[in-house]
Amino acid sequence: MIDTLIVGGTTITETAVGPIDIGIENGRIVELMTGGAPRPKARETIDATGLVVAPGAIDAHTHFTGAHDFVEEEVRAGTLGAAIGGVTTVIEMPHSAPPATTLAAFEAKRVLFAAASSVDFALWGGLDGENLAEVPRLVQAGAAALKGFMCSGKASGEAGDKRGLPMLDDDDLLEAMRLAQTLGSTIGLHAENHFIIQGRTAALRAEGRDGGHAHAAAQPEIAEIEAIARALLLARETGVALHIVHMSSSRSAELIAQARPSTRVSVETCPQYLLLDEDDLERIGPFARCGPPIRKRATVEALWRDVLAGRIDALSSDHCPYLLEQKNNGNGSIWNAAMGLTGIETTVPFFYSAATDRGLSLYRFAAMTAANPARIFGLDDRKGTIKVGLDADLAFYADRPWIVRGEAFKGRGTWSPYEGMACGATVARTMVRGSTVQLAGEARVAPGFGRYLPRRAAVA
Ligand SMILES: [Zn+2]
Repeated sequence: MIDTLIVGGTTITETAVGPIDIGIENGRIVELMTGGAPRPKARETIDATGLVVAPGAIDAHTHFTGAHDFVEEEVRAGTLGAAIGGVTTVIEMPHSAPPATTLAAFEAKRVLFAAASSVDFALWGGLDGENLAEVPRLVQAGAAALKGFMCSGKASGEAGDKRGLPMLDDDDLLEAMRLAQTLGSTIGLHAENHFIIQGRTAALRAEGRDGGHAHAAAQPEIAEIEAIARALLLARETGVALHIVHMSSSRSAELIAQARPSTRVSVETCPQYLLLDEDDLERIGPFARCGPPIRKRATVEALWRDVLAGRIDALSSDHCPYLLEQKNNGNGSIWNAAMGLTGIETTVPFFYSAATDRGLSLYRFAAMTAANPARIFGLDDRKGTIKVGLDADLAFYADRPWIVRGEAFKGRGTWSPYEGMACGATVARTMVRGSTVQLAGEARVAPGFGRYLPRRAAVA
């Protein structure tokens, strides 16, 4: 007698998509069964007829503690939102007050998430150019990777606020890469050229421009392309594993493709660079302000070609649950709007429907949302695929459209850049370690169910 049997669904494993039933015991997948094979008896049987059973998504880029001070409430409510969005593991960025650039701050975040998260979690450590002595301790504590910034919203290069990280200069970055390489860790970079952004922003503001097109012009594609090119050179020089976060440009993707395999590099993009374009940014204004900015339609279409060609490893949300007023501040001038978008409840369902409409296979969908982030961040011994021996982290997709209403989101960021848009897929049920965490949008576990996932030790 096993704990749970999932029957009747279309299941996405590493090697097959089809009618595969799943047996679960003690939170792990113990059997995958096709055809007329006999089914073991189970205490609970879940009928997944008509649903696609996918590996739960691993969202490697969230900012639950980086947007405002109501952090405990945000993690409690927001990670239920993650489950509703098909996400079973979040990898939280180092932003917090204070940021996770020290072991003490990192441990404080671990304790907060362990008490409040509904889904499993890993944590990024932060690089601030002065904490190299702390980095081995962060890695030892299980940091999924180390995050650095090549730019800052402040001309001085300082952190934008008490939760943020300052920009790294090239020497800081090179030294951090050398150290991370020896420790077997990965460096994740926000790669945009600081001086181009500062110069363009000042010039546009001086001209009195303050709308969506101005924000896009202030952070042009070349700012991202140049920074990624520089990061790739430094990564090749040091041999470190480099991860480029929230890439927005197909021309950046081309550079990354050219750098492989002599450079160890992985890359993620976000739905805002695939679902919206610069005209939407102009129309939506502050509620679509993020960095890098949403790009022109031709760039969006080129990025889709990269997704379909397998040139982009992962999809993340870059979820920033800013309060409504932090976005409304930008109603008079976009420069005053908080930089970042909500997305934890919309990212994977939108990608599921948009990507399958464009011909992305379910294998590639599962690879980008689960298997690849698991591998990049050292979680693949427990997470990321539907495979015997791994945790039973599952998302059940239904082709049931819904209209995005930010006010229905679980966290404090009750707004969406996709407000009023129809999303083609609903996550009917989400399971973490064999337990249902959400069913039809309702919580089925208490906050604190989620467990900490240290990065597995590097294999030589
Ligand atoms: Zn981010």
